[in-house]
Amino acid sequence: MSELIIAKDLCKTFSNDSVQQHVLKNLNLEIHKGEFLVIMGNSGSGKSTLLYSLSGMDRPTLGKIIYEGEEIQNYSDEKLCVFRGKNTGFVFQQNFLNDTLTAIDNVMVCGLLTHKNRKKLAEKCKELLLKVGITEEDFNKFPSQLSGGQKQRVAVVRGIINNPPVLFADEPTGALNSDNTEKLLDILTKMNENGQTIVMVTHSIEAARRGDRVMYLEDGVIRDSISLGKFTSRDSSSNQKLNHFLEE
Ligand code: ADP
Ligand code: MG
Repeated sequence: MSELIIAKDLCKTFSNDSVQQHVLKNLNLEIHKGEFLVIMGNSGSGKSTLLYSLSGMDRPTLGKIIYEGEEIQNYSDEKLCVFRGKNTGFVFQQNFLNDTLTAIDNVMVCGLLTHKNRKKLAEKCKELLLKVGITEEDFNKFPSQLSGGQKQRVAVVRGIINNPPVLFADEPTGALNSDNTEKLLDILTKMNENGQTIVMVTHSIEAARRGDRVMYLEDGVIRDSISLGKFTSRDSSSNQKLNHFLEE
């Protein structure tokens, strides 16, 4: 498998009132094209910070992010923005939906990036929203009128509307019940089967099972990782393997 993203000696330090907090500490990681990578770890271990760096949403303090052979960490803001639009989708832990737009318009404005035909885009938005369990009567509601789980699902649809080569999803099932969790994971698994690379942060074992590889982040470094193989062509022993991995 070829590498899509290489993170080399990644460091991220936040400075507040002259106090420095080293969140990522010389982290090295390779993400393969077509991989479904799961990142787990305690709260505060740096998972979200890592996703921001890997996706070009934020710059590392030190180190390199190499995307398909090209270093992106020193891109200008403008170039980085174009890079993200072309290559990445992002589902934020806190949703970050636009409160002034309806559910469907939150997805539409993002979809306009790659869709010229508004009518076709609207159809695709509706189809995906229905797939994640958002009913038609909720399409035109504003985020303030939706539950946490509904907002999260709208945010996922916004993240995937442009069929990004790589999707970064930060705890996308955190606010969902088990039924909606399964629906969402099925969509991600299908995207991955179609060749899209997925990097997902989660606390859920159910969600982690979908990964080809599960990594455990601790205090800004990768403590351990396990390879499970593709979810759809796996035997039952991988469940035990994952449980064992997470117990350690
Ligand atoms: P996780 O997603 O694993 O819970 P985060 O990456 O969100 O962890 O945060 C790791 C640490 O970095 C936390 O202590 C957090 O307070 C700190 N941190 C994250 N983002 C910022 C920021 N923009 N400014 C200052 N500190 C931050
Ligand atoms: Mg986080």
